[in-house]
Amino acid sequence: MLGHRCTQCRRVAFPPDPYGCEKCGAPHTDLEEFVLEAKGTVRAVATVHRHHHASPPTPFTVAVIDLVGGPVIKAIVAGGEVRVGVVVEGVLVEDVEDPEGTVMVDLQFRVVT
Ligand SMILES: [Zn+2]
Repeated sequence: MLGHRCTQCRRVAFPPDPYGCEKCGAPHTDLEEFVLEAKGTVRAVATVHRHHHASPPTPFTVAVIDLVGGPVIKAIVAGGEVRVGVVVEGVLVEDVEDPEGTVMVDLQFRVVT
């Protein structure tokens, strides 16, 4: 997973900040690429039963994840018993196909057993 790290305040962002640092206001020229480990611990979890897109189908689980050495993100977690404190790792999952036939890929997380 590729994020940004601010060279001024060391804030790590994922996804990368395209315009600049949200914490200290440094411009995008002060951001450097930062490789994040696609692994973390679930801080909070919720099950989504209704939403405004066809994909992913409901119900699905969204978690707040403390990434190892990085920021806190929200992501879909599938597979295993998702609860606060479990360790999860990122996987790329094929998502919907666009009208041109391109299959999109989505970052999701799985419980590490
Ligand atoms: Zn900063």
